[in-house]
Amino acid sequence: MDLPTISAWARRKGIHLVGTGDFTHPAHFKAIEETLAPLGNGLFVLKTEADDATAPRFMLTTEISNIYAEDVPLSISPKGRKTRKIHSLIFAPSIEAVRKINTELARLGNVNSDGRPIFGFSAKELLKIALSASPDCMLIPAHAWTPWFSIFGSKSGFNTIEECFGDMTRHIHAIETGLSSDPQMNRRVSMLDNITLISNSDAHSPAKLGREATIFEAEMDYLAITSAIEQQGPGRIVSTLEFFPEEGKYHSDGHRDCGVRLTPKKTITARGICPKCERQVTVGVLSRVEELADRSEEEATAAALPSKKLVPLQEIIAVTMGRGVGTKGVQKEYMRITDIADEFNILLDKTEDELRDITSSEIASAILCVRAGDLEINPGFDGQFGTIGISEAAAQRLLV
Ligand SMILES: [Zn+2]
Ligand SMILES: [Zn+2]
Repeated sequence: MDLPTISAWARRKGIHLVGTGDFTHPAHFKAIEETLAPLGNGLFVLKTEADDATAPRFMLTTEISNIYAEDVPLSISPKGRKTRKIHSLIFAPSIEAVRKINTELARLGNVNSDGRPIFGFSAKELLKIALSASPDCMLIPAHAWTPWFSIFGSKSGFNTIEECFGDMTRHIHAIETGLSSDPQMNRRVSMLDNITLISNSDAHSPAKLGREATIFEAEMDYLAITSAIEQQGPGRIVSTLEFFPEEGKYHSDGHRDCGVRLTPKKTITARGICPKCERQVTVGVLSRVEELADRSEEEATAAALPSKKLVPLQEIIAVTMGRGVGTKGVQKEYMRITDIADEFNILLDKTEDELRDITSSEIASAILCVRAGDLEINPGFDGQFGTIGISEAAAQRLLV
């Protein structure tokens, strides 16, 4: 995940603006300073591609983990204390702002061992550090619903944004829906009505860039983009590209080791207990949204921005070929097609005829099935990704 590789993969995916990630890490920050050129608008580009108007733009971003215990009312925990584990994204407008954040964080903990460092102070303190580095910094709770490390997580999260950020809540303008939830699910929770929903890759490897994305109608400019997120500028978010939430690894409830997957209803019937090992199951995103929801699915769909659900092209090719994503044949076909057109263009825009021109008719059909939502999905649970299959009947229908 070095910067030239991120840039090359962003192009292959069809991403125009990508996060640098990991700006708190000294080695990565040094690489940011050495390999990126500022564009004068709070965004950056590879120095080697500075003259190329089509080169992907970079925003200075990082993810941070706050793990801390705090006093809570006895109604929340009989011990009167609860451990919180929250991941947050920070966006920064300049190298100077990043340097200030990094200096403060290096004073408070270890920034050397991990690209996503862990601190023992609260997410609210982190927000204060970011805003004192620059009022134009933005903090966004990451993958907001995942059980273990998120603001609303069933294991160590909160029930409201206010509980987490207190008198700083007005500075929280957005949350990241994460791979296991989508905008329709989030809009069932009316307390999030003024909160923007964004979607990001959460990539840990270059090929996983663009698993999700946010589509802006805004100037390619740091302040234009952050004010679109704040819903305050002329720019706006038009829609998001989403992972099928069922495919996310914390969508349903259950125990991975016991091979037990439960729907929210079954979890309630079982009083949260695993029928196999009789311990508490890991309550996933679907149940957790259900718990805080006060709107019907129909109302929520009406309230949500339009979004499109994607299956990564490598997975589509793998399913069609009946081989693993990492196998040579799948990788070769993926690289061959994405040399011709970028992945988003292939997944979203190419006509049936155009798809058949560049790839096999089986893969072309499978892409059309994904667009139509004609899939068979085994939901993910307790850290295990869901699996996706093109429904046999649909695939046959499309093969003319
Ligand atoms: Zn995270
Ligand atoms: Zn179990």
